[in-house]
Amino acid sequence: MKLSKTLVAAGVIAVSSLITVSALAQAAWPSKPISLVIPFAAGGPTDVVGRSLAASMTKSTGNSVIVENKVGAGGTVGAAYVKNAKPDGYTFFLHHNGMATAPALYRKLSFNPLTDFEYVSQVVDVPMTLVARKDFPAKNIKELITYVKANKTKINLGNAGLGAVSHLCGMMLQKALDTDLTTVPFSGTGPAMNALLGGQIDLMCDQTTNTLGQIKGGTVKVYAVTTAKRIKALPAVPTLAESGLKDFEVVVWHGVYAPKGTPTEITNKFNGMIKNALKDPDVIKSLTDLGTEPVPASKLTPAGLESWLKTEIDKYGPVIRAAAQFAD
Ligand code: ASP
Repeated sequence: MKLSKTLVAAGVIAVSSLITVSALAQAAWPSKPISLVIPFAAGGPTDVVGRSLAASMTKSTGNSVIVENKVGAGGTVGAAYVKNAKPDGYTFFLHHNGMATAPALYRKLSFNPLTDFEYVSQVVDVPMTLVARKDFPAKNIKELITYVKANKTKINLGNAGLGAVSHLCGMMLQKALDTDLTTVPFSGTGPAMNALLGGQIDLMCDQTTNTLGQIKGGTVKVYAVTTAKRIKALPAVPTLAESGLKDFEVVVWHGVYAPKGTPTEITNKFNGMIKNALKDPDVIKSLTDLGTEPVPASKLTPAGLESWLKTEIDKYGPVIRAAAQFAD
């Protein structure tokens, strides 16, 4: 079939103007506020990291980066929301290890962490701590282990839902102690911390970004850190591994993603904004004061995040399956 010259010409103009519009949109990016989705409650550890980055990016670019908390189901509600968001460069997503644990934890997951997102960058690593309400009877980790084994389901263990790192750490703890506690899920460990302070729950694993202030203020008791080595911010606190729970290690890592199809020019620009934010002295101070660890430059790249996510999915699958009986 022969197409008329006019039709072909109209087609060429339409395609080239589409390319120009998209190129112009990218060149002008960002021209309106950018949303940084956090899959946990405001005031919690993931939120703290996200807000610190967002404030610095807003300051340095003059364009607002706004944190939006889309909470529920251990971070999976937020991930599904971002999967379905427009890939126009105005929605980004900050999540942690939950991106790697969800596939093993959920029989039905409405997103595929490996294929439904564009990778942007890793951000920071954060140790976890095992903390209890201030008046919890055990004086140290040794007493805690004995007490927990003796009281089992009488003990309320808080977490941020199936797939949260507090959940993963709690599951590993129950498996290591071979005991079943009563788990109490929240929309984030921000609200879980309020419940711990109010004595409604007894115990929780949570990032130093949420616990350090309370530990230093004496409002919660700390028993151990979940890292392989003791941490600078809490040098007197033992690791779980040195307390007899062999190989117990959980470090919380963070990744930034965008909906699949977001133009690479834009994800690269957002990557640059993250790198700048991580060099901002205010961000460095607040994140260091909260016990976080910077990640090497190789991880501050889309490829660094992608390969790390794959490694973590492979690592957690067997751990979760082994601890599955403690999954609730
Ligand atoms: N710390 C939470 C978790 O357990 C998440 C949060 O509230 O930021 O995954």
